[in-house]
Amino acid sequence: MILNKIGNIIKQNKSFAVVSHIIPDGDAIGSTLGLYNFLSEIGKDVDVFNPDKLPSKFNFLPGFFDVKDTLVKRHYDCIFVLDCSDKDRLGHLVELLNMADVVINIDHHISNDLFADINYVDTNAGAVGEIIYNLIRINGFEISYNTAMCLYTSIVTDTGGFKYSNTTSMTLNIAGDLINTGIDFPEINRILFDTLTAQQVKLLSRVTSTLELYNNNSIAMLHVTKDMLEECGANENDASEMVNYARDIDTVEVGVFIKEVEKGKFRVSLRSKNKIDVRIIAEKFNGGGHIRAAGCTVYGDFDEVKNKVLNEIINHWK
Ligand code: 5GP
Ligand code: MN
Repeated sequence: MILNKIGNIIKQNKSFAVVSHIIPDGDAIGSTLGLYNFLSEIGKDVDVFNPDKLPSKFNFLPGFFDVKDTLVKRHYDCIFVLDCSDKDRLGHLVELLNMADVVINIDHHISNDLFADINYVDTNAGAVGEIIYNLIRINGFEISYNTAMCLYTSIVTDTGGFKYSNTTSMTLNIAGDLINTGIDFPEINRILFDTLTAQQVKLLSRVTSTLELYNNNSIAMLHVTKDMLEECGANENDASEMVNYARDIDTVEVGVFIKEVEKGKFRVSLRSKNKIDVRIIAEKFNGGGHIRAAGCTVYGDFDEVKNKVLNEIINHWK
């Protein structure tokens, strides 16, 4: 069993690094910090990294302020790469892969290209946090309160609050066990799902007014420009969940959110309800993700990007 093999590597070594993907989401942050807290608690020498600045709403998580975005040349016995389907998703931290004896890739994306020395990809896991939970438990360790906060955050965010189809009985059993450590899960849920800044509420009204519907109202598109963010005093991450308003419209199967990153470069988020595998569409633009949530970066002017994405969705429908 690979999780036992990974457990033995943990037991037999001293120095570790833990890292996840660019533009980190709740699973990237929660699983990374969960493993970081666990390894630190059992006395290991651990550094934790992310290539991008973490969204501040996760700053309640233990270890949040320990996350670094730059490398100091050194050697690690082992590096864990979490929730990351390929090396490119590590951005400028890809160099880390050359700084250890063993690189371990733990993920749940079907498109994972198995880039590491040891690869454990469980596509049935709702979140990487579930796999980290199993790794800790199978190897006979306890889950602390701090580790539980992080793993709960990983799981509850990637399953949309246990609402999406990636939620299994295993997901709920693990969440139940995490809750038994005494974590304040209603407060965590409130921070994650029911908290907006005033800037975000202002931005929401700007973004929802960009709504466009296509394909008999089954495709909804929303967008945000850099100017709109600036006008509302909002930052890059403030729009990250707004794709859900496109998806949630009753007639819609695919919700699209286009965010201007810089002139000629746009981040596209795709969400679907029941039928369309949005990962396939994102992969057409060198992106990826899951069946119901995927993303990619598309280049061109805004109308060009919008039409390319729209055409790809409509082609895939046929
Ligand atoms: P989001 O729309 O929230 O940025 O991303 C949705 C999901 O798609 C994420 O959980 C992530 O797994 C995946 N994803 C987003 N962008 C990319 C990308 O550029 N490449 C790959 N491989 N996956 C992505
Ligand atoms: Mn994930």
